[in-house]
Amino acid sequence: MMAATKDNPMKKLHVVVTIDIEVPTCDSHPSASGPPDHEKGGAWAQAYGEIAKSFAMPVTYFIHPEVAVRQADLYKKLESQGHCLGLHIHAWRFDRRYQCEFGGLTEDQARQMLSEATGMWMTAFGQRPRHFRPGTMSANDSIFRVLSSLGFAGAAVSLPGRVFPQKHAVWAGAPLDPHRGHSHFRMLEGDLDVVNMPMSVDTSIVVEKNGLRFLRDLRPDFMDVNHRELVTRCIDQTMARDPDVACINLVTHNDFDFSDAKSEITRNFVKTLTAICDVCSERDINWVGSTMDDICSEVLSSPTKPYQFNPNGGRVMFDKDARPKA
Ligand SMILES: [Zn+2]
Repeated sequence: MMAATKDNPMKKLHVVVTIDIEVPTCDSHPSASGPPDHEKGGAWAQAYGEIAKSFAMPVTYFIHPEVAVRQADLYKKLESQGHCLGLHIHAWRFDRRYQCEFGGLTEDQARQMLSEATGMWMTAFGQRPRHFRPGTMSANDSIFRVLSSLGFAGAAVSLPGRVFPQKHAVWAGAPLDPHRGHSHFRMLEGDLDVVNMPMSVDTSIVVEKNGLRFLRDLRPDFMDVNHRELVTRCIDQTMARDPDVACINLVTHNDFDFSDAKSEITRNFVKTLTAICDVCSERDINWVGSTMDDICSEVLSSPTKPYQFNPNGGRVMFDKDARPKA
């Protein structure tokens, strides 16, 4: 591998470690994601942060508002240690009137729910939430317009390749790298001040399971993958795209006991972070542990790319126009 020189500077890669902090299943539903109770949920979230910190990677915690209120001191402490906080909502867990995930809400319902959750966040932390991730990565085309109008800076709302229509979570063909949100089409880069950080995925293998289609991301909960190979493919694909802001990010949930070093999920998490460091070192990539705050600053300081319309319509799929010319 070529060493970095003045003419060939080391490439930079942001590594963003995230976790969704769920309402405990004792307060939601036995089959839902989440820890069994608040005490374990908090301890496991903290243990996750300690592992990431040992790799010099801060964590961005996306916290369900009820948990933010209940465990505000814990998350304030984590923030003071360099971690970052954002809001997480599963629509049906937040308000039982809605039997759907966030993308199933109308624009007014979404705005109302985010405003109510913001009120709870203010109670917990004395300030508005800056970032948002919907449960199950469920969102419709109003998402960035709504987040922008409510003053959110960062969104981690898309999981490219995911096709879960019943969850209002369809992201096949979505942008793969951090970008500004679009005011009325979630699948395109736009010009809003709200920044979306798509989850990192391996685009080389489309997985079909139980009638659902998805690409694999870097979550440690996947038991049937080689985490090192997955990391290698995600990093190589990201660097080959050469985006304005190169970022690898991963997610999990506080369902798992990250204080148990022997558990398979904890070992997978450590394997994944170790692999990120190793692969970057092998490829002369200068990785830096970053948060959603950092990704927002980087994207907002990059130039916006104006949308270019091409009038070729559906003929975009053919190499040439075969119609007789007049
Ligand atoms: Zn969730």
